[in-house]
Amino acid sequence: MVSNFVDGFQGLRTEEGNENLKFRPSDKWPINTDKVRQGLKNAGFAGKVVARCDVPNEYSAAIYRWAENLQGLPALVVYPETEHQISITVKFAAENKFAISVRCGGHNGAPMAPETILVDMRHFNAVKVDEESRRLTFGGGCNWGEVYEVANPAGLEAVGGGYWGVGVGGWHTGGGYSWLSGKYGMGCDNVLAVRMCLADGSIVVASEVDNPDLFWSIRGGHGQLGVITEFTTQAYPNGGQALVGMLVYRPDQLSQVLDILNEPVVAIMPWIQGDDAYIAKIKSIFTDTIAPMVDRTYIAHDQVQVAHGADGMFAVPGAKRKVDGLTTIGDLWPEMALEAWQRWEEYTTNVPDCRGSVVLFECHSRDKMASKPSDATAWRARDPHYYAVCTGTSMTTATDRYAESFALETAELIGAHHLAKTGEPARQWGLGRMDPDTQEFTYSYATNRDRLKQVKEEYDPLGAFQSPLGQQTHSTLLAKSGKVN
Ligand SMILES: Cc1cc2nc3c(=O)[nH]c(=O)nc-3n(C[C@H](O)[C@H](O)[C@H](O)COP(=O)(O)OP(=O)(O)OC[C@H]3O[C@@H](n4cnc5c(N)ncnc54)[C@H](O)[C@@H]3O)c2cc1C
Repeated sequence: MVSNFVDGFQGLRTEEGNENLKFRPSDKWPINTDKVRQGLKNAGFAGKVVARCDVPNEYSAAIYRWAENLQGLPALVVYPETEHQISITVKFAAENKFAISVRCGGHNGAPMAPETILVDMRHFNAVKVDEESRRLTFGGGCNWGEVYEVANPAGLEAVGGGYWGVGVGGWHTGGGYSWLSGKYGMGCDNVLAVRMCLADGSIVVASEVDNPDLFWSIRGGHGQLGVITEFTTQAYPNGGQALVGMLVYRPDQLSQVLDILNEPVVAIMPWIQGDDAYIAKIKSIFTDTIAPMVDRTYIAHDQVQVAHGADGMFAVPGAKRKVDGLTTIGDLWPEMALEAWQRWEEYTTNVPDCRGSVVLFECHSRDKMASKPSDATAWRARDPHYYAVCTGTSMTTATDRYAESFALETAELIGAHHLAKTGEPARQWGLGRMDPDTQEFTYSYATNRDRLKQVKEEYDPLGAFQSPLGQQTHSTLLAKSGKVN
């Protein structure tokens, strides 16, 4: 079984005197989190609870995230094992004016005010397969590796994340790009139903039939309406082997590589699914005319193997990542990619400690994802597009600031190319910027924003769940009132 918290997740933030922990408890903090924990226990919560006063050991491990800048400082981290325990937590939060945030795979995050309760869903990791209807039902705390490990031996493929460690919760509610999206659409297009705990503590089903507005909203509207305890999704027969891994080219070969990538027939990224002859044919386009320096491709026989294909890049223990610039782009314009490359080269030459930083252009076949109208789900980006992710990575605290500025500036550069080419601002996408005050997501949601706001008002009128919609949470209101510092 693939665990949520291996490969760099466990224990990295647990040493005494950990330099990475920004927070130290002091008298200035207005909340006695041990008392809050006791209150939750008195309300009937029988599961494990880590409080901020447990800093540094247990607490620093509990708030650990794939990217350090997405790490929040909640008052409590709770580990429910049943829906009833989630319900108790949500009601307790409402009564005591705490905001709720949810953690699934920990590959994203949200700014958290001090009076937030973080619900860690790791115990909700059961996976069931209905082979006849080709449906998968899995817990709202699974990562994709856990789903693939059960689905693949049953002969099924999930429209899931490319990296095993990404959580199904943040991935689906954020739209969900899969290497199968070219064939089967966005991840959110393949959700059939969810079970979730709402702000009043009730457990409901959302599907096309039950609570359809809620169902529309959780498909791309991000996790702001409740705690999803279970997903049911459509799966497909195993597509067989795929070529994955990495082809590495010299910098001076970049424009030739881009020429090939812009040919419409080529599956981009080293995920080429098919029989040996098909794989060899497509691969030769990349290797015959422009020989790579290093060929690290290999045949993966199921999704589990594919999802570990990028471990060398994503599962490096000790790296401090500053994710930014998740942005949709109309095309892979050569001058944009070349400029991004030059930016990376200049920056990593100046700051070698940050060589792990990455500008990633993810290019799937675009038509299937764009085949639905933009109001079919809360996920609105239905114009044909690719996307770019800029991640600054630093190995020491001294270079943090460079990593952050690299991610931001490169994202801006890419966005400027998109604007110049299309006349439209690039759509920022991702959850790292869930700031209730900035309305950062306005453009991304565009015409779907009003409907999302209505659904939010109906299902979470007090804004208990952290929201990117400009609605203020308990925490923000308290912070503004000066009750917290
Ligand atoms: C290495 C890496 C690879 C990635 N690859 C892809 C990719 O191939 N395709 C793609 O589309 N994206 C990809 N992403 C982006 C990824 O989908 C988002 O970062 C996503 O939000 C991560 O989900 P998570 O559950 O791991 O994160 P978390 O930080 O655990 O959750 C993020 C947010 O999702 C919401 N949420 C999570 N679980 C629940 C739940 N059970 N109920 C309600 N709300 C919930 C909460 O609001 C939470 O704040 C990748 C990111 C990384 C870092």
